[in-house]
Amino acid sequence: MQYLRNKYIFTPGPVRMYEETLQLGSVQAPYFRNEEFSQVILECEQNLLQLLNAPKSSRVIFLTASGTAGMEATVQNLLNKNDETIVINGGGFGQRFVDLCKLHKINHLNHKLIVNDLFNTTQLNNYSSATTLLINAHETSIGLLYNMKSVGEFCKNNGILNIVDGISLFITDELDMQKQNIDALIISSHKGLALPPGLTMVVLSPNAIQKITPPNCMYFDFNRYINDGKRGQTPFTPAVTILLQLQARLKQIKKDGILFHIEKAKSIADYFRTQICVLPLKAYSQSMPNAMTTLTPTDGRSAYDIVKDLDQKYNVVVAPNGGDLRNIIFRVSHMGNMDKDYINVLIDALYQYFGVERK
Ligand SMILES: *Cc1c(COP(=O)(O)O)cnc(C)c1O
Repeated sequence: MQYLRNKYIFTPGPVRMYEETLQLGSVQAPYFRNEEFSQVILECEQNLLQLLNAPKSSRVIFLTASGTAGMEATVQNLLNKNDETIVINGGGFGQRFVDLCKLHKINHLNHKLIVNDLFNTTQLNNYSSATTLLINAHETSIGLLYNMKSVGEFCKNNGILNIVDGISLFITDELDMQKQNIDALIISSHKGLALPPGLTMVVLSPNAIQKITPPNCMYFDFNRYINDGKRGQTPFTPAVTILLQLQARLKQIKKDGILFHIEKAKSIADYFRTQICVLPLKAYSQSMPNAMTTLTPTDGRSAYDIVKDLDQKYNVVVAPNGGDLRNIIFRVSHMGNMDKDYINVLIDALYQYFGVERK
């Protein structure tokens, strides 16, 4: 256990947490069917809506689940037999939306991107008759950031409901529901928010709320959450402790201003990318978010071996990739409680690993 805890982590979830979050995680979980806890949920909802610049009368659904449950629940509640949905498929998470559409028998157009094909919405002009669109704002499997403003404009101009998985973008990069015309947005606790895994939130604009069709399941029926949420409750036991940690986190983020956090992530990402530029590594994606850097070794080494060696020799954990990309790329997250001292541990490890002296 101690062995697991003493690692320096740079993974895209879980991410390094803040001291306050750790402290709140160490206390007894309170009972939640009371006025006091309702206030916690209502405050979290208000602060999230504000930080995301959600349209008036938007609502937040709090699910006790990981991010994929938020993706699945959204497909089940917002899409139905009459829909034709575009799925932007740039990697593992895009493919997950495709798989969910197949499973739930939703008509879909799988817009599969070729490696490093910089997606732009003119590619979608043939699909303007679609009713809905599913996209992962940041395709975390390869570190590809899409232009969410142009996606939003395309959706708005064609009357398409814009459903966005923003799980690995919130706090580190801009997410603005009004500016980017986002109708439904999925976010999770264990990415930029830097909380433990287990809480996923689906933010619904009035347009999305109107489109809900009750799904053939109980736990993920959005209408139940919307009704109970009016008085600050959830239909089933919420992730009580994570909600208390969320309340504190949102309060802090609001106090600092979200721009402060976006700028902080950007400065960490820029610092890391500049510092490692003399090493035999190159950026894999042409469009990277502040949240993460995806790297390819240029000296013939296997990316997977680098991940393994960094862990074993330096106690530094970065994320490997699966499948075809296993030996091609590894990923370094900049989400969570990052500062220069902390990222320098990774940078120093990389210099030593490659046998380059750091000046
Ligand atoms: C992390 C992540 C998810 C959620 O994955 P879970 O393992 O279910 O938490 C979904 N989409 C994206 C883009 C992610 O980065």
